[in-house]
Amino acid sequence: MSELREVLALTSSLAGEFLESLEERPVLLDVDVEALRKALGGSLPDGPTAPSEVVAELARAADPGIAGTPSGRWFGFVVGGSLPAALAADWLTSAWDQNAGLFRLAPAASVVEEVAGEWMRDLFGLPPGVSFGFVTGCQMAHATCLAAARNHVLAAYDWDVEREGLFGAPSVRVVAGAQRHVTIDRALRLLGFGTAAMDIVPADDQGRIVPSALRSTLDASDGPTIVCVQAGEVNTGAFDALDEVAEAAEQHGAWLHVDGAFGLWAAATPALRPLLAGVERADSWATDAHKWLNVPYDSGIAFCRHPHSHRAAMGTSASYLVQSAEDGPRDQLDWNPEFSRRARGFAVYAALRSLGRRGIAELVERNCAQARRFGEELARLPGCQVLNHVVLNQVLFRFRTDAETDAVLAAVQASGEAWMSGTSWQGRRAVRISVSNWSTSDLDVERTLHAFTAATSDR
Ligand SMILES: *Cc1c(COP(=O)(O)O)cnc(C)c1O
Repeated sequence: MSELREVLALTSSLAGEFLESLEERPVLLDVDVEALRKALGGSLPDGPTAPSEVVAELARAADPGIAGTPSGRWFGFVVGGSLPAALAADWLTSAWDQNAGLFRLAPAASVVEEVAGEWMRDLFGLPPGVSFGFVTGCQMAHATCLAAARNHVLAAYDWDVEREGLFGAPSVRVVAGAQRHVTIDRALRLLGFGTAAMDIVPADDQGRIVPSALRSTLDASDGPTIVCVQAGEVNTGAFDALDEVAEAAEQHGAWLHVDGAFGLWAAATPALRPLLAGVERADSWATDAHKWLNVPYDSGIAFCRHPHSHRAAMGTSASYLVQSAEDGPRDQLDWNPEFSRRARGFAVYAALRSLGRRGIAELVERNCAQARRFGEELARLPGCQVLNHVVLNQVLFRFRTDAETDAVLAAVQASGEAWMSGTSWQGRRAVRISVSNWSTSDLDVERTLHAFTAATSDR
């Protein structure tokens, strides 16, 4: 076997062993960071090491610091795992090592992104002709969409922001809900707005923007305006009243941006689609493939109703590049903030294809049913109160006191059976469960519920 084949075969078996170990491996270990530094550190070696040795030693030394995030019993943040087809396509992506910035450098990557972008547009029920960009995650999808928004709302005031910048520009008002995701704020910072430019609208007990408050905020002044709402609040999974919000934004000529990091995937199933009623009226949408579609990191998608603004914000050119004609094949660097970049569309394409429309709907419905079961059974535990309407895949709950909530959570985390994080909700400590992994089985849910039962009966 050549050295190359040897290291690839070794890697494949190491990866298989890791993934098969997830069933038994504690979901999150106590990490000894000094031991990790010792195992992985030392000074840069003087000479070469054989590839197989590098990989075998890396796998051994890193192992105690590899979190069980791909496990079916990882319910922390909103994470998801990797579907087999997506993982395999991601490996091929590295082997092909295409620079997906330009069609000329990566023709198949360009076409696959066209196809996968169109499949998702269709799945989400977005208007025909929307443009899209494959980015690293929802954070950069926000940055991309809001850059397009910045172009668009200022162009209406005869201001070319790409040329003139923001100094001296008409001031842009950004309106968002109190429970928006923090990545909205960071995108605004990156785009030069500053968080002080935001008008924050109150949210209700589920984290949804209050439409009447949004309307009065919009009525209070005019000028270029961007409204940011969400489909899927990160703690409760709640959806803003999109139709009502879209109506208000339209009346004020405001750009409407939807954070649908995981919630947009509810569109895949008729049972949940009503949660998204009106979503197609927005101007831009940001979502993730590395969460609920279960594609490896890094993978998000920005969609935009106004291709011209999208391209004006992101497009770039240089005389040494071989760029397509305006109506030619797609050059990715016109639609996302990176220049050289990974051909991340292959993994998205593979995930969509391997599940198909029905498989995506089943994945979403299964995880939501598992979340409902968590909600019902946790509510029976002594002192447990479920705080959200479990409309999607998120469950938020607490116990009698903050101290008890933290103690139960710590005991479940320490058991290694499952992992989820704590949060603060309306001034009190809470626990949040996100069910977003394709491999989460009903048995995983039962094992996790047992861990909670044990943690509460100890008290
Ligand atoms: C995860 C998340 C984001 C950020 O997405 P990244 O992929 O981590 O950049 C934004 N909004 C919501 C609602 C999220 O859940």
